[in-house]
This record gives sequence, C-alpha cells and structure tokens, in this order.
Amino acid sequence: MNYQKIRGTADFLPETTNKWQYVEAKIEKILNKYYFKEIRLPIFEQFELFARGVGETSDIVSKEMYDFYDKGERHLALRPEGTAGVVRAYVENKIYGPEHHKPVKYYYTGPMFRFERPQSGRMRQFHQMGVEVYGTTNPAVDVETMALAMDIFQSFGIQDLSLVINSLGNTKSRIAYREALIEFLEPHYEELSEDSQARLHKNPLRVLDSKDEQDQKIVRHAPSVLDYLDEDSKAHFEEVKLMLELLGIPYEIDTNMVRGLDYYNDTIFEIMTNDPNFGSNTTICAGGRYDSLVEEVGGPATAGIGFAIGLERLVMLLEAMNYDFPERHELDAFIVMIGKEANQEALKLVTALRKHGLTAEREFIGRKPKSQFRTADKLNAKVVFTLGSLEVENRTVNMKLLATGKEISLNLEEIYSDEFPQIYNETLIKLKSED
Ligand code: ATP
Ligand code: MG
Repeated sequence: MNYQKIRGTADFLPETTNKWQYVEAKIEKILNKYYFKEIRLPIFEQFELFARGVGETSDIVSKEMYDFYDKGERHLALRPEGTAGVVRAYVENKIYGPEHHKPVKYYYTGPMFRFERPQSGRMRQFHQMGVEVYGTTNPAVDVETMALAMDIFQSFGIQDLSLVINSLGNTKSRIAYREALIEFLEPHYEELSEDSQARLHKNPLRVLDSKDEQDQKIVRHAPSVLDYLDEDSKAHFEEVKLMLELLGIPYEIDTNMVRGLDYYNDTIFEIMTNDPNFGSNTTICAGGRYDSLVEEVGGPATAGIGFAIGLERLVMLLEAMNYDFPERHELDAFIVMIGKEANQEALKLVTALRKHGLTAEREFIGRKPKSQFRTADKLNAKVVFTLGSLEVENRTVNMKLLATGKEISLNLEEIYSDEFPQIYNETLIKLKSED
C-alpha cells in the first residue's frame, strides 16, 4: 500500500516551515504594533454556523464545504474561513461585555478548508492570517485595517501592490441595488454563463465578479453600486477615501468588485499584486465590513470589519521575488565523538551547552570522525567540540572555531560550571584573533 497525501494538501518540510515561521513572525510583529491580540479557535464548527454566517448561497457553503456527520450525528464542517468562528467565539464568550477593551481587535492564523479545484496558489487545505475588529463603524477603523494590510505587504518589500476598494452600502441600499442589477441582467439571461444564470436571482452581486469573459463583457455596463448608496453609506465611503488620502495610501475603486462571502456591507477591499512572476491581478488579501454578522450569529448588534491574507500566495510571491529568508536555525556547536566510550559524556556535554543557551547538536549514529567534521561543516556549525576516550579520561574537550580552524583544549568541569558562558565568549575571541 502506498499512502499519498490528499489532493489539494501539502507537506511543509523544514525548508518550507523556515520560511513560514519567518513570515508569520514578521506579520505578528506588525499586528502587535497595531495592538491586535491572537485568538485560537477550533478547526471544525457546526455546519449551520457557516451556512448562516458565510451565507447559504455563497460558493463556499454551497459547493466548497468539507462538511460531515460525526459519530454523534452532529452536522459539522471544517472551517472554510476564519470570521464565522471568531464571531461565534465573540458571542459565546460575551466579548461584547464591558470588561473587554473596545474595539475588540483579534487576529488568527491557521488552516482553512475548501473543496476547490487545486492549482497553483489554490489548495484544499490552505492557510490564512486574518484580523477582526468588533464594536465600531468608525471609518477610521476601515482605514486602519487597510493600512495594516498594506503595511504587512510593504514590510516584505513587495512593490507592485494595488489596494482596490468598493462600497456595498447598507442592507437597505443593497436591496435596492440588487433589484436594479437583476433588472439589468435579466435581458442578458441567455448570454450569461451557467453559473451566472443560477446566481441571477439568488445572489446577483456574484455575477459581477464572474471570471467568465462573456459575463465580464456584460457586467461592464451594469449599474454601479455606488449610485445606490444612501446618505449614511455615501458619507461613510467618502470618509474612508478621505482618510486613505490622509495617510497617503493610493487606492483604486472597482464598482464591480464584490466578495465571495455574503456577509459584507459598506467598505470591501482587496489587495492585488501584478508581480510579473505571479500572473496579473492576483488577490493576496481580501476583506471588508460586516456590521450585521454578530447579530446574525446571535449576539447584540455589533459592527465588524476584517481581512484575511492568503499565506500560500504570500509565500509564493516572496519566493518569486527571490526573497532572502534568513535561516532560523543557526547551529552554535556540534560535538564530534570519537569512539563509543564518549557517548555518555557527549550527552552530558550537549545538554550543558544547551543549558548555557547555545544551539547544539551531537553525533549519534556512529559516523567516522572525518565524516562527522564534514557534517559539522554542512550544518554550518560555528564551533566543533571533539570528545574522545582520552579527553573523557583527562576531563578535557577540544573546541575548534570552524571559521579560523583554530582550536584550544578546555576543561570539561569548566563547561559544566556557571562560569562557562563567559569562558565561551573569551575563548571565541581568542580563536578569532589572528596571531
Ligand atoms: P478567490 O477569488 O481567489 O477564490 P476568495 O474570494 O475565495 O479568493 P477569500 O475567501 O476572500 O478568497 O480569502 C482571502 C484570501 O485567501 C484570498 O485572497 C487568497 O489569497 C486566499 N485563498 C482563498 N482561497 C484559497 C485557496 N483555495 N487556496 C489558497 N489560498 C486561498
Ligand atoms: Mg474562492
């Protein structure tokens, strides 16, 4: 029997996790500056939460959900996105209560699951890092959120970025727009793709971001959602634009941009890249406002806004840019062991070095000394300690700085003493010096 990973999933070997850890840590640092705190939630939830939260008519719920019945006959689903779970936790843990600082600013990182056709940058298990802000409709939060997303990408030196924004208006204006859109699309029914025909009455806004060429030609002339905004939504959108300008963040407006999840209102946005290595207009971050979602999920009326970054696409983009990921596992010391007699002492030594704060590895598998030195080189160890039966008997060990090839004999008991960190540094300086 040959076991294989499930289609649309990936194994992350250390060469890859090194990059991911670096990327996640860098993003977390920025999130911290914006005073976002981390939330960790279950990977599966009640199916109903996503059906209600993300929307029955969305592709995610209607086609892409990994849902199943557990042994207790509960209808569950692997999360296809992060927001529904955070909203559920917000309500269930009564985060809306007065003891929690407002607005509530959370971020999450982790795997999401969608039954999509796998291709480059599109997986069935993929990873998002997302943020959520609850408790205010202040447009400054919309702008702070977009600024944060841009800040994240710019911190990696990604140049070719565009921030695309739109407003879907509030529920009332969206209903008016929806009707106008249906009226516009109906005469084109026969020309529309099959998907768009199915969506025309159920979720006409989704026709606007159809990837079908013929659909795109038709919707180019569709009425603009911005013409249907009421006074409040219009004012909100104006403020958002003004404050983006205030921060000097360039943006484009795409009135045909909608989002694949049903819960959005007012501001929505995407960050796209045109990196030539990557195909044009690839979305690497998407988000927007969802002011009725908390109530929908059973909480008190609470405004919300957030975004999610697709981490696979971010890492791919960085790889395409030949981004210089620093190696996160620098080896300070490798212990070469000559003869089985040194096995116990090598264990003691490597443990002591680690207690003193060094990253240390030792020989385990009985290689010849020459091959152990090659290993130390290959692992890019800074220092090699050599232990043979003679050293063990004399209570000494040989310390060699690979960069200069210079070596010195140290007392083992010194290494096991509290004085060692200082001795180590002084020895390093000696071994580095020219004489
Ligand atoms: P798309 O239009 O590419 O399907 P989406 O609108 O479904 O994206 P969102 O649900 O808004 O995407 O998710 C935000 C980000 O998560 C996307 O911009 C993308 O970077 C990433 N993403 C979404 N689906 C996948 C997937 N199947 N594989 C890898 N990354 C994904
Ligand atoms: Mg999608």
